[in-house]
Amino acid sequence: MRYDRQIRIPDFGKEAQAKLRRAKAVVFGVGGLGCVSSTYLAAAGVGKLVLVDSGYVELSNLNRQLLYTLGDLGKPKALAAEKRVAEINPEVAVEGVQTELVPDEVDRLVKNASVVVDGLDTYEARHVVNKFCVSNRVAFIHGAVEGFRGQVTSIVPGETPCLRCMFPEKVPRPEVIPIIGATCAVIGGLQALEAIKLVTGFGQPLLGKLLLIDCGLMEFEEVELARRPNCPVCSGLRTI
Ligand SMILES: [Zn+2]
Repeated sequence: MRYDRQIRIPDFGKEAQAKLRRAKAVVFGVGGLGCVSSTYLAAAGVGKLVLVDSGYVELSNLNRQLLYTLGDLGKPKALAAEKRVAEINPEVAVEGVQTELVPDEVDRLVKNASVVVDGLDTYEARHVVNKFCVSNRVAFIHGAVEGFRGQVTSIVPGETPCLRCMFPEKVPRPEVIPIIGATCAVIGGLQALEAIKLVTGFGQPLLGKLLLIDCGLMEFEEVELARRPNCPVCSGLRTI
């Protein structure tokens, strides 16, 4: 009964639901984006969900990070998120991992994942995760937000450009990223949809295209992306 309304979707059905149940999703960063994507992945019935974050819940998080309440202030996000997500759907095996993104640990977390979701807020951290998604050939759903704007794309190593192909140079960011919470809901929701589509084979994921959204102007734009032949991360991968 929990999944009744999505099993009724034509071409989704019990087959896609079974694929979701067998899947393991790893969400790096349980902030504005990760709170949304992990909520919807759990509610949709992904079998295993790993939530990775090194931070602690602060009052200034609560305009957008809706897994947390006042009672969670000062608690590790990974553990507070694990508890809340397990309440949303106890059928999902949820594991919160409180860790910095050290390479060995990222490699261990990415290995055997069906899909990895980007909930991070620096490109340095994203590039670490991107590197291990490429080396382990695991799909990586990139998302980023600032103010009323956001972007999303799905990276399938060997098939699409990787994050380093898209952003070979250092990307500047403000010390504190200004953000309205609903922008996170839009981009995090799209990331959950992309992850569900890649796991189940439903529909057409955003492959080789970066979707740019300006919620202030309510403008949506798609930019075609190309692999860089000299990309230091993915150029060795043969097309599959
Ligand atoms: Zn690349």
